Amino acid sequence: MQITTFGVIGSGTMGSGIAQVAARTGNFSVFLCDIRDELLERAKHTISSSLQRDVDKDRLSAEAKEEIIGRIQMTTDLKALKEADFVVEAITEDLKTKTELFSNLDSMLRPEVIISSNTSSISITKLAAATARPDRVIGMHFMNPVPVMKLVELIRGIATSDETFQNVKVLAERLGKTAIEVNDAPGFVSNRILMPMINEAIFALYEGVGTPEAIDEIMKLGMRHPMGPLQLADFIGLDVCLAIMNVLYEGFNDPKYRPCPLLKKYVDAGWFGCKSGRGFYKY
Ligand code: NAD
Repeated sequence: MQITTFGVIGSGTMGSGIAQVAARTGNFSVFLCDIRDELLERAKHTISSSLQRDVDKDRLSAEAKEEIIGRIQMTTDLKALKEADFVVEAITEDLKTKTELFSNLDSMLRPEVIISSNTSSISITKLAAATARPDRVIGMHFMNPVPVMKLVELIRGIATSDETFQNVKVLAERLGKTAIEVNDAPGFVSNRILMPMINEAIFALYEGVGTPEAIDEIMKLGMRHPMGPLQLADFIGLDVCLAIMNVLYEGFNDPKYRPCPLLKKYVDAGWFGCKSGRGFYKY
């Protein structure tokens, strides 16, 4: 699979990181698409600050930083991606929004182009069914922060072909990542295990078992987690956490995945964690 033009849709926490990593390889010209200019401006700022940390530590020259940023074209027009050789979707974790996008991409992109999704939990099989190329749809689940984390969980939908899988595995390696194969199931492996733990930490807070600081310190000092579950939830985004819990709850029809009412309340309040300035902690 020859990829020169790499499309990323959604320029939030994850999309900006994926665009940065792809541009940094020097192998691709990257298009980054979002719905509003100010969101793209924010993404540019995020990418610039992230690269600047490497400049400050002498791991990247200031010139190379500008070249990386120069390889990313920002656009609010999805059609600008029509010549893309590969696309990864990193938009809001919502089935309807994602299936609409997949259907649009399918009608716009060349038939051989692989469409991947960075979804944390939504069925790859369902997203693939919104296209006429289900064999060329795959889950490519990067971890946050993308420039730092090595893992990409590669999710096969029911119709994903071996060729697609192999091509995307090689692509993940070209991005400096380690790909691990899993099958399509709610939350895949990563969030099926991680998110119920975070949800349980929120229940512990809700029921007054401990303060946020106590809960996080117990998991850091006692279980050697680098970050406590509530701090991690703020970092992931509480809206994203709630969306994933809902996918697990509905996907398995099992009350053990019931999202904690406190998580729902925080999301209703617009307390999304780091990105909104307030979650379990203030930023
Ligand atoms: P985010 O809210 O930070 O960013 C989502 C972006 O998508 C927003 O800027 C929004 O404007 C944009 N968007 C929405 N609809 C769009 C459309 N139709 N076209 C173009 N842009 C559109 O979310 P995020 O945390 O970056 O998550 C993105 C995806 O990555 C989700 O599927 C999420 O589940 C997944 N994910 C998130 C994390 C995490 O830690 N946050 C980790 C792994 C995977």
